[in-house]
Amino acid sequence: MADARFLASLIESLWEKRNSEGRLASRITDNSAQAFGNFCSSLKAHEPYPCPLCFIARGRISNLLCSNAANGDKCLKCLVCLEQFSFPGD
Ligand SMILES: [Zn+2]
Repeated sequence: MADARFLASLIESLWEKRNSEGRLASRITDNSAQAFGNFCSSLKAHEPYPCPLCFIARGRISNLLCSNAANGDKCLKCLVCLEQFSFPGD
């Protein structure tokens, strides 16, 4: 799961979430997005990425559940904040 393109998509969707997160939005900054990127880059290949929203806004590492949407997109759902992140399929 650890690849740069995927990570870029995850961070991109984080910026989109920023608009709907209200009080958490101020925590989503270039610096915190960078910190999340650095953390993900340091993970081993078999370690899943944590939820970016929980990592940045709540300071916690939570798991993302991966599934495939009906249209072929990949969908990740955080088991803690229940936020969903979707990505175009290959
Ligand atoms: Zn979360």
